[in-house]
Amino acid sequence: MQNKKILAIDMDEVVADAVPRFVEWYERDTGIFLTPQEIHGGEAWDAVRPEHRELASKYVYKKGFFRDLPVMKDSQEVIMELMTHYEVFFASAAMPFKYSLEEKHDWLEEHFSFVPNTHWVLCGAKHIINADFLIDDRSKNFERFRGTGILYDSPHNQKETRYHRVQNWQEIREYFL
Ligand SMILES: [Mg+2]
Repeated sequence: MQNKKILAIDMDEVVADAVPRFVEWYERDTGIFLTPQEIHGGEAWDAVRPEHRELASKYVYKKGFFRDLPVMKDSQEVIMELMTHYEVFFASAAMPFKYSLEEKHDWLEEHFSFVPNTHWVLCGAKHIINADFLIDDRSKNFERFRGTGILYDSPHNQKETRYHRVQNWQEIREYFL
């Protein structure tokens, strides 16, 4: 039995960068390139033109959106290091996006196979998770969470001040190690 503290880590916008996929598909469909400045401060799907909002809001429900997202810088090496001190789980809301379940599984197998697949929790609401810490970009996931929420900086969460914020994986490293 392990008695390490349990650390749960969200996937999208924490270890997987979904914004470039969104920008890519939006440009493919409309010819419009969204700059980071346009997205900063809100949701990517709110940064689009009003007439494209419906189209853009459906991207996350489409096949292929999650499969080959870029890995967040330094996340693999820092998680590997964290695993010597913490019991690490991934906790990602996959159920609202049916294709994401298989795609997230395959993505973890490709990039994070050093975290055992018994520790990939592809779920719905996260307050069911009894971890000591949760690193997530969505503060709504902390509201009923019983452990400590660590907010991963993201364009959409700039106004959130209630939780400890980390900007990148080196800051996570400093916080936990
Ligand atoms: Mg997320």
